[in-house]
Amino acid sequence: MGERMKKERVVIIGSGPAGLTAALYTARAQLAPVVIAGAQLGGQVAITHEIENYPGFPDGLSGPELVERMKEHAENFGAKFEFDLVESVDFSRGSPFLVKTMGEEYLADAVIVTIGADPRKLGVPGEIEFIGAGVSYCGTCDGFFFRGKDIVVVGGGDSALEEGIFLTRFANSVNIIHRRDELRAGVQLQQRAFNNEKISFTWDSVVEEIIGADDGGVNAVRLKNRVTGEETTHPTEGVFIFIGHDPNNAVFGDQIALNENGYIITDQRYRTNVEGVFAAGEIQDEIWRQVATSVGQGTSAAMAAIQWLEEHEEHLQDLNALPEAQA
Ligand code: NAP
Repeated sequence: MGERMKKERVVIIGSGPAGLTAALYTARAQLAPVVIAGAQLGGQVAITHEIENYPGFPDGLSGPELVERMKEHAENFGAKFEFDLVESVDFSRGSPFLVKTMGEEYLADAVIVTIGADPRKLGVPGEIEFIGAGVSYCGTCDGFFFRGKDIVVVGGGDSALEEGIFLTRFANSVNIIHRRDELRAGVQLQQRAFNNEKISFTWDSVVEEIIGADDGGVNAVRLKNRVTGEETTHPTEGVFIFIGHDPNNAVFGDQIALNENGYIITDQRYRTNVEGVFAAGEIQDEIWRQVATSVGQGTSAAMAAIQWLEEHEEHLQDLNALPEAQA
């Protein structure tokens, strides 16, 4: 074992709700998990300004507050947090697994991957600046704050239409901006959107800039028609962007089985194809993406990992003794 290498029972990669919950459960099982938290504790949740749909908090709370509470809860039972980024893993020889971060190397008997997926960005001026102040990637999270307002949705897939329809519960009007003149979304969703009198479409158009108002919010988008080249300014107070997600699978290379969209494949027990490696949250769930669903998945993955470690205790002890014996 290298001098810098730390031997751990459980390493959790990612600190969103799935990772924080897995940390709590494995900590309560006396496994002293290490959470490689990434650059920002809480991942996507940390940039959600208010969460009103997490049970038990009827007055809502901010994303950063929720993740801070979850961290404290896990720490109280012995979880350790490292604000570090995973650079690579070696799952090829089975447990114990090598996890290399920028600052450390860990050997972990079990690994729980909760590294999430990031909403794809438009990459236009104003987008990052107005996140949480008019720009959103989650209708369920933020729709409520746009009651009576005129908003736009960007994208032409199932998410854009489904979320656009959902947002008509709150918004006065929803204009869906799509880069082509044909939707990617399924026919049924298309029909529901066409039949919804609050929804209109802007075809063949891309957002070039998100423009701010004096009050710190958004007040318009600058659009470009891809066919005619014409540029227009469309007034709006909210920009909801649904142009797909990118699962954070880069550090795993081909060491773990992914589906055709790049999400980790798990079974009902949140086991991956690598025995001893589990996955939970948005890195393996491309459908629900809610704090509450990630918490549930993190619980299941942790319980599966705890059970797996118990079942393999003897074998792991033998393996762990090996490097010292050979040193
Ligand atoms: P998606 O199907 O990949 O659609 C992304 C949409 O965004 C496409 O219309 C695409 O345009 C557009 N887009 C991509 N990059 C863009 C950019 N840079 N600028 C402007 N527009 C851009 O993603 P999704 O809608 O999130 O769906 C992901 C998966 O989940 C799909 O398999 C979907 O069927 C599934 N899903 C299903 C349901 C449901 O069944 N109820 C609900 C949600 C999601 P183009 O069309 O021109 O490529």
